Amino acid sequence: MAILELNQVSKSFGTGHKKVDAMKETQFQAEKGELIAVIGPSGSGKSTFLTIAGGLQTPTDGEVIINNQNITKLSEKKRSKIRLQEIGFILQATNLVPFLTVDNQMKLLDKVKKDNMTKEQLAQLYDNLGISDLRHKYPADLSGGERQRAAIAKALYSNPSILLADEPTASLDSDRAYEVMDLLKTQTKSKNTTTIVVTHDIRLISYCDKVYKMTDGVLVLEEKVGSE
Ligand code: ADP
Ligand code: MG
Repeated sequence: MAILELNQVSKSFGTGHKKVDAMKETQFQAEKGELIAVIGPSGSGKSTFLTIAGGLQTPTDGEVIINNQNITKLSEKKRSKIRLQEIGFILQATNLVPFLTVDNQMKLLDKVKKDNMTKEQLAQLYDNLGISDLRHKYPADLSGGERQRAAIAKALYSNPSILLADEPTASLDSDRAYEVMDLLKTQTKSKNTTTIVVTHDIRLISYCDKVYKMTDGVLVLEEKVGSE
């Protein structure tokens, strides 16, 4: 059964001669345990797709169903509750709060949501991401790559059933990028969650079960990578 479903979803911005069809009518389903890549050139609609899938933006047409709930018609308040419970975002502008240390970013989540990672799981996650020594630092004191890894930790910390990641490895060197993909794959398989990764880096798609290509707002299943 699909955990995430887009039914005839489209999104356009502006009107008249300025109208941009960022996403043409799209049908999409993701199952539990799937790691999915979305590739495509800049401006093709990848971020639009991801933010609509996660309920951060509403579609112009169609419906988005997350874990059996049609979120399209819900109030922003109800949608934000579902986002908090179900979804982890790693967006291009990192989701770190500037005046909190890395550790306190996680503690903030403990105040608003239950069933986050245990202390031991978080320590392991920091270790996997190579940021154990940075837990008491503020975002401004981190490098771009460190900030990106802290943002990944924050997204995974809440044990989301769906993880939506927009270019999560863009500021990482190749080795780190592979490690992060390894981590995302391990998390997806061991916790039976669903992860969608937007990437420019086609070397990373070998980690994924399915690859979709976005071209001018049209999402097409490109290939099925051999699944284990
Ligand atoms: P990608 O992530 O693949 O680079 P985007 O989803 O960001 O592509 O954008 C797809 C298209 O929609 C682009 O032409 C972009 O300029 C346009 N677009 C995206 N967001 C907005 C917005 N908020 N207002 C107007 N146009 C937008
Ligand atoms: Mg984008």
